[in-house]
Amino acid sequence: MAIYKHLLLALDFGDDQERLIDHAVSMASVFDARLTLAHIVDYMPAAYGGEVPLPDDLQMDALLLDKAKGRLASLVAGLALPDVDWRAELGVPKHGITRLAEELEVDLILVGSHGRHGLQLLLGSTANGVLHLAGCDVLAIRVKDGD
Ligand code: AMP
Repeated sequence: MAIYKHLLLALDFGDDQERLIDHAVSMASVFDARLTLAHIVDYMPAAYGGEVPLPDDLQMDALLLDKAKGRLASLVAGLALPDVDWRAELGVPKHGITRLAEELEVDLILVGSHGRHGLQLLLGSTANGVLHLAGCDVLAIRVKDGD
């Protein structure tokens, strides 16, 4: 019996994206598991309730969310997997990723590890946050430092 039934790949649309997707697709094939690609739009308005008018911020949120949805949809369309989906949300990445994993009953979250300096040398802040918040297994896929 496969250990993992549903994998969630967290994507920040960075340079390592292709490698992370290849890795996730291979694992989904090996485990015969579902795969969901997820991106959290962490747009932060410059000010809250002050000089920045709220409607503009909301529009920017919606714009970025739409863009993320489009990117994920086209990535998923290019994958040769029977059971693959995508999700995009607004929020803080580590919280959004772990919340989605819970909602979708994911049993393995895949993140890239690309902390580049100091204490983040081994794990980036998001990867580290996901590791501590997740209620399921987390795999940090090694990505090259300084790419
Ligand atoms: P970082 O902590 O920024 O070095 O990112 C490490 C990994 O966390 C990335 O490779 C992604 O897997 C994940 N990640 C970071 N930001 C986001 C985001 N906004 N949405 C989804 N996943 C993210």
